[in-house]
Amino acid sequence: MTPDWFERGFPHIWLPYTQMKTTPAPLAAARTQGSRITLADGRELVDGIGSWWTAVHGYNHPHIVEAIQKQAHIMPHVMLGGLLHEQAATLAARLAALLPGDLTRVFFSDSGSVAVEVAMKMATQYWLNRAIRGRTKFLAFKGGYHGDTIATMAVCDPEEGMHSLFTGLLPEHHVIDLPRDERSIATFDAFLEKHADELAGVLVEPLVQGAGGMIFHDEQTLRRLRAAADKYDLLLIFDEIFTGFGRTGTMFACEAAEVVPDIITLGKGLTGGTLPLAATVASRKIFDAFWSDDPSHALMHGPTYMGNALACAAANASLDLFENEPRLRQAADIGEFLGKKLGQCLGLPHVVDVRSRGAIGVVELDSIADLHALKRRFVEAGVWVRPFRNIVYLTPALTIGEGDLEKLTDTVVKILR
Ligand SMILES: *Cc1c(COP(=O)(O)O)cnc(C)c1O
Repeated sequence: MTPDWFERGFPHIWLPYTQMKTTPAPLAAARTQGSRITLADGRELVDGIGSWWTAVHGYNHPHIVEAIQKQAHIMPHVMLGGLLHEQAATLAARLAALLPGDLTRVFFSDSGSVAVEVAMKMATQYWLNRAIRGRTKFLAFKGGYHGDTIATMAVCDPEEGMHSLFTGLLPEHHVIDLPRDERSIATFDAFLEKHADELAGVLVEPLVQGAGGMIFHDEQTLRRLRAAADKYDLLLIFDEIFTGFGRTGTMFACEAAEVVPDIITLGKGLTGGTLPLAATVASRKIFDAFWSDDPSHALMHGPTYMGNALACAAANASLDLFENEPRLRQAADIGEFLGKKLGQCLGLPHVVDVRSRGAIGVVELDSIADLHALKRRFVEAGVWVRPFRNIVYLTPALTIGEGDLEKLTDTVVKILR
């Protein structure tokens, strides 16, 4: 039985990344709890995705729900222009304390794409404020994903970012291979020799390129980027919107490499999957370039719902959970389990790679002929797994129970077999 609200509303909904004419209808979701999504028809799905990697503590965590409810009575929102409130101030101080090095100045926004745009704006204006002209391009990497807005599409992988579709609209940046082997390191070095002085910054998702295909690289690659940024006086921006908050095994991926970027972007898991909030955190050096008696040196950006008090309260509650519960150990346990269980897919026809890192498990196939059919089979088997392109992956809540986790991995293995 399809609910009334679905019949009434679906004809007016435009879904993300969807050909509306040919897409199967979405499923009607009624409720969430822990690692489960309950559909309107009563079926329960074990969630392997955490709602685009946001629900790190599982759905409806009582500590976060309570914080939101409490804040709703005090002050759901107040503009951050000219006013500051306790939740935003507390969250900024906590993020500054958690992040490595002197990443200490927090600019809030409401989505990851905007956080990346703000980082790009900070980096560009950093040079202008220092009276250095011509540094307006970014260097980004193939396989990368940084958002769907126009400026961020331009620094995504050119194919995935659909650059050809939007030719003429997108500003042109440089997207090359990550310097991870001899050949790509040589290309990277040659590129910087030639172009470093037109670059405002270098933008990368550290350790795992998520939406671009769950592609892993190592700590050494990040150290190489830091060294190059230092050598050529470039700003290094880490987009940790996917990798932050325990997903890759440490609180932030940059910690594993012991590399401190000049700017870091956070989102997704920041509020534990409850409310939209993102942050761009700048190092001392960046902030200092804006610190001036000249009003034109100010950062000219300000989303309406910037620092929303409900969202900041949720994020503070999420950080409490990271402090008081063993999330990073849970991420490590999940990673080990995923590696072992998904490893059974190695050797199956069409499987070309199985990999895991932190609470991310990936089975890469040579291709997936019918994505819709595969997704439907997962639902029929009682799990919410969303393969894309040639990838079947699991990024469950860090709190998922072993039974549910096993159901996810067993189902992936069974269906791929
Ligand atoms: C999801 C994501 C973004 C965009 O975040 P939105 O909140 O969807 O705008 C940017 N960068 C990375 C690495 C992401 O995973």
